[in-house]
Amino acid sequence: MKKSKKIILWSLLVCLLLGSAGFFGWTWYDNNVDRSGWREKDGVTMYADFHGKPVTGWQDIDGSRYYFAEDHALQTGWLEWDSHTYYLGTGGAMHTGWLDENGHTYYLNEDGTLHTLWLELEEGRYYLGEEGILRTLWQQIGDDRYYFDETGLMQRGWVELDDLHYFHEDGTLACGWLEIDDATYHLDDNGTPATGWLEWEESRYFFGQDGRMYTGQQEIDGKSYLFGESGVMHTGWLEDGTGKFYFLDDGTRASGWTEIGENRYFFNEEGIMHTGWLEQGEYLYYLLPDGTAAAGRQEVDGEVHYFTPKGIRVLLVNPWHPLPADYELNLVAVEGDYYVDAGCLDALNAMMDAMKAEGLLPMFSSAYRTEAQQRGIWKNYVQRYMAAGYDEATANAMTAAYVAVPGTSEHHTGLALDIVGHDYYYSGHPGSTKAVQAWLKEHCWEYGFILRYTQEKVAITGFNAETWHFRYVGTEVSMDMKDSGLCLEEYLGADKTQ
Ligand SMILES: [Zn+2]
Repeated sequence: MKKSKKIILWSLLVCLLLGSAGFFGWTWYDNNVDRSGWREKDGVTMYADFHGKPVTGWQDIDGSRYYFAEDHALQTGWLEWDSHTYYLGTGGAMHTGWLDENGHTYYLNEDGTLHTLWLELEEGRYYLGEEGILRTLWQQIGDDRYYFDETGLMQRGWVELDDLHYFHEDGTLACGWLEIDDATYHLDDNGTPATGWLEWEESRYFFGQDGRMYTGQQEIDGKSYLFGESGVMHTGWLEDGTGKFYFLDDGTRASGWTEIGENRYFFNEEGIMHTGWLEQGEYLYYLLPDGTAAAGRQEVDGEVHYFTPKGIRVLLVNPWHPLPADYELNLVAVEGDYYVDAGCLDALNAMMDAMKAEGLLPMFSSAYRTEAQQRGIWKNYVQRYMAAGYDEATANAMTAAYVAVPGTSEHHTGLALDIVGHDYYYSGHPGSTKAVQAWLKEHCWEYGFILRYTQEKVAITGFNAETWHFRYVGTEVSMDMKDSGLCLEEYLGADKTQ
């Protein structure tokens, strides 16, 4: 073999050996060296994998997730992927949790998807709508209204906004009736609780300033009302263990004199309906067992009494109604030997003073009389008529037209007076009796007196007209009778048969 041939063969061998080693050495190196990392190329950010190849799709890198498009470009901002929406923040890292972007607030779930509609977090509920935008303040969602605070947190319970509102546990605004904490409320369509009076389905209710509905007995503006368990204001009668009550149409509890239907009733300060005798000032009333005020003729405990249409008892003494045997009076001297019952003294003095002040000259010709005095008067009259030539029967009948049978004279009551003028006793001042009686006919009513016997009522009173005879009944009665045109018998519903 030639020397040159040998060199070529060795050279080939060395080359072959070196080549093989080089080839295998390169391969080993390529398989075990990490070539991953961020790459920037022409303003596009990419990421190379272990082998140095640029990645696409979702990638977890250093604890964050990224998304690379088909052209390897790292994505940032909103991303629509697989019918979900993601947000890739600064540096392209997938965002989770709250996100403020373009003036809106969003929430990205743990998996990066945009949250929509309701969101339940530890601190409460939020609402993000179909678009995933956080809602605050008033929101209409479906058929219901909700309120979210500035941070979007859904409100529950009582919340003071423009008005007070209540939100249920599910956040919906309470409207209509609401029962919580042993109290009842009524909220209008805007969720504002009613205060004060409320008309609802033909019933009335009352709510305090705090919106709580009233039940039971309640004082409102100084008046008493009753509300049922359901809060409905009571009207009409009510009876309980303490008595009978009445609530007027406006709900106020009746007190004092009250007209109900055709009848009069009396309720005391506690609202309890009164029965039996009732004394008010100088007036006496009787309330029947059913509470109605006695009017007209009424038997009480076996005795007959007369009451005015307004229920005031008036003592009736006439030929058919003698003075009751047990009648008690409190005589006081009014002038000279004239006595009256103390009950009419002040009124009588006032009336006499008024006449005198007008220059009239009133005088008494008779006041209280005992039965014995009446007998004397009677006898006197009869004797005078007989002396004039009448027989006794006629004399008696003629006397009866002016003089009451002893025991039936109003003068026995101490409440009747015969009033004349100066000329009745003395010469001088002619016409003074006429003037006095004309004044009395016009004004006696104002002082509680009535002109007892008039010509028109002779058949009813049994007496001829007596322009001088005045009877005290009290102004409540006299003023009511004044223009009625009724005599006392008519006014009291009395007739001769009773
Ligand atoms: Zn008289």
